[in-house]
Amino acid sequence: MKVAIGKITEQGLKLDEKIPAALLNLDGFDLKFVDYLTVEAVFNKIYSEITSKVDIRAHCQITCSRCLIEVGQIKKYGFQKSYQLNKLGDFLDINDQIREEILLNFSLKVLCSPDCQGLCPCCGRNLNWGECNCLKSGN
Ligand SMILES: [Zn+2]
Ligand SMILES: [Zn+2]
Repeated sequence: MKVAIGKITEQGLKLDEKIPAALLNLDGFDLKFVDYLTVEAVFNKIYSEITSKVDIRAHCQITCSRCLIEVGQIKKYGFQKSYQLNKLGDFLDINDQIREEILLNFSLKVLCSPDCQGLCPCCGRNLNWGECNCLKSGN
């Protein structure tokens, strides 16, 4: 998302934009971003500062680290940042901040759901689909 500094006033400037996920090059090993990131941003000019408040919604395809199933998830990110007006050129490009924010919030383990039961260590059955006989027999 790139905004012309001249358009940001004391009254604020609200923008929303869809950014192709591929453009930000974010894919991790077990987490892939698909389609678009929806970015909503509010910019304000306060004296010699530009402030930004940014909300991001992303569609991801994750591979659960417990049960190894692939599921789609929506992830939300947000940040606020201010910039010194005299250090900015004619445009403010926040794509780097968006990318940084998402990478900072990468979790080591991605789960299909917080209470994922994982796989049975004996037979490999996905326990989210029900118990297997190994557990019932007490082994
Ligand atoms: Zn899982
Ligand atoms: Zn089992």
